[in-house]
Amino acid sequence: MAAIKLGLVGVGKIARDQHFPAIHANPNFDLVAVASRHATVDGLPSYHDVTEMLAAHPEIEAVSICTPPQSRHDIARFVLEGGRHVMMEKPPGATVTEVHDLIDLACRYDLALMATWHSRYAPAVVPAKEWIAQRRLRSVHVTWREDVRHWHPGQDWVWEAGGLGVFDPGINALSIITAILPNPLIMQEATLDFPANRHSPVTAALSMKDVAGLPVTADFHWLQTGPQTWDIRVEAEDGVLTLSRGGAAMAIDGVPQVEQKEEEYPGLYRRFAQMVPRAGIDADMAPMHLVADAFLRGERRTVDAFHW
Ligand code: NAP
Repeated sequence: MAAIKLGLVGVGKIARDQHFPAIHANPNFDLVAVASRHATVDGLPSYHDVTEMLAAHPEIEAVSICTPPQSRHDIARFVLEGGRHVMMEKPPGATVTEVHDLIDLACRYDLALMATWHSRYAPAVVPAKEWIAQRRLRSVHVTWREDVRHWHPGQDWVWEAGGLGVFDPGINALSIITAILPNPLIMQEATLDFPANRHSPVTAALSMKDVAGLPVTADFHWLQTGPQTWDIRVEAEDGVLTLSRGGAAMAIDGVPQVEQKEEEYPGLYRRFAQMVPRAGIDADMAPMHLVADAFLRGERRTVDAFHW
């Protein structure tokens, strides 16, 4: 198979940290150009926006979109209407409806659309799903506590409407639990704390039930200094499974089962390379629905202003 000629939009932290290394390590992709309003990349043609990039490089067959969610729909729609396949960073949009619009468009034009959930590619996620599938569960609890100042330095878009606030990392946990648990989750209660000077929450406490009655709770916090916590604890009748480090490690009753380096982005690009030739659609909206439900159902409180 000839390498897929790829363009990338939005040269920021995740593009540099994860996308460029994963693309360069994958012989199925040939990165042709990038588009970013302020950034350029050494050795690659760099354009101000996606319009200029595709006009200058009609040979581009697929575009990876790494911008924040608020600008994602316009860019993805333009790319699909131009007849190119799309891979999008999580969350797949700023609203639910815009993502459904992209799914419809990709189907109509027979193009691949991949809404990535990188945490689902963490090494312990599939083993956890297999363990869970053989058991009767009692409860699930998610603890996702990290330091926004460390992981999103100066990124004001995360605090703007549509930036999701603490759900920007929290949706990664939701992408894992919606992949490993057997049934859909219903949001029962949510408490969302909004800093007085921001439009998105800094903490969230969620209480859900699956449709068979399994209680699932989540604690998302964005001001945790010191050790960071990305854990999911699943209590079954005959044991306790713990996923830690965001799905990189798994233990049963405290005994390590999987302990690997995180390799999420190479897996995402391997999957996208398989999807392009068959115009596949991979855009599970379950994590996004839960975030929307938390905003619909949640009690809102105002807390101390947030300053970088
Ligand atoms: P970032 O560092 O702010 O980079 C995003 C880039 O997109 C910006 O540098 C900006 O470059 C461009 N951009 C285009 N439209 C924009 C707009 N309206 N507002 C702000 N920037 C805009 O953000 P990131 O951390 O790479 O995150 C991008 C996406 O990846 C998000 O959806 C995030 O959830 C996801 N993600 C991030 C991480 C992480 O660890 N940071 C991990 C996994 C996934 P120009 O100014 O040059 O246009």
